[in-house]
Amino acid sequence: MTPESDTCPVCEGPSKTISYDPSRELADIECPACGRYEITDQDQTALPWSEWMGFPRHLLAAFLRKHFEQTGTCYRIADRMDGKLPTALREVGILTRRDDLLLLAADRTSAFGQMVQFDLNADWPLIGATGPHELHRLLLHLCESGLLTGGLIAKALEEFEANGDLVQASHLGGALTSAGLAAVDALRPAGKLSSQAFVAMKFDPDLDAAYDGIAAAVEECGFSAYRVDRGAYEDKICDHILSEIRRSGLVVADFTGHSPNVYFESGLALGLGRKLIFCCRESDIKAAKFDTRQYPHVLWRNGADLRTKLSERVRALGYQAVATED
Ligand SMILES: [Zn+2]
Repeated sequence: MTPESDTCPVCEGPSKTISYDPSRELADIECPACGRYEITDQDQTALPWSEWMGFPRHLLAAFLRKHFEQTGTCYRIADRMDGKLPTALREVGILTRRDDLLLLAADRTSAFGQMVQFDLNADWPLIGATGPHELHRLLLHLCESGLLTGGLIAKALEEFEANGDLVQASHLGGALTSAGLAAVDALRPAGKLSSQAFVAMKFDPDLDAAYDGIAAAVEECGFSAYRVDRGAYEDKICDHILSEIRRSGLVVADFTGHSPNVYFESGLALGLGRKLIFCCRESDIKAAKFDTRQYPHVLWRNGADLRTKLSERVRALGYQAVATED
């Protein structure tokens, strides 16, 4: 291979050779898909053979891209003639590629309906795809499934199908639909929670300072407190509570006064798999019902005390909020 070559030896897409060291026969290559890496002439020759030995090029491209983006340094492919390629090369499941594409779209989205760009030539290794063509098919699939707005992408991809010109169809714009955003929510790692914190507590003016303490504590941890206004709903209160608990990342239940509603709402939260923190005024804990007494409670004396202890508990449990679009 000559240093002037503008075909990436790994993914065979367009690339630039930044420099070439003739004494070591080492090229420094920049590729939109693979990132930046170094490779010897000998290893360039060996690449087709390494493919035979179980290291498909698309996996090497994904590995190089990740290495460059995470470390900012070039991985050097040298003396790999005997198949000693990086061991972290692993095929990603096809459905995982689709899910990763949804998450990639979400990472690039900061407002509802925002158009995000996909570059067929550059983005495919980010989701572990086999190449630009698979990324193209996955984008079409997301459009057809109603997860991504389809018009522009479908049109650009039609042209791509017709003339096979990757450069022409390189930059595709699309926006996540509300169904797409819901799918992203379901895929988010469990550590990231919806930023709403549902507060279950007895409605009693004596507990206003406690509510203020809870609201301030969860806000310090990135959540916004939500308490049902019982006056506004009446008959529909159950459905309303259920949907609000469902969309909350965290539920804080204060058992002071031992209102049956608080027991009911905590049970719903547990059943829905929500993160739940038990609280109770110190003087009231003795009256706690048998079923919940086994759970650790944040015991408090006044609103300020509750604020400090609750925010410490939220942090200690590692609950982190992530803003949701709705
Ligand atoms: Zn490449």
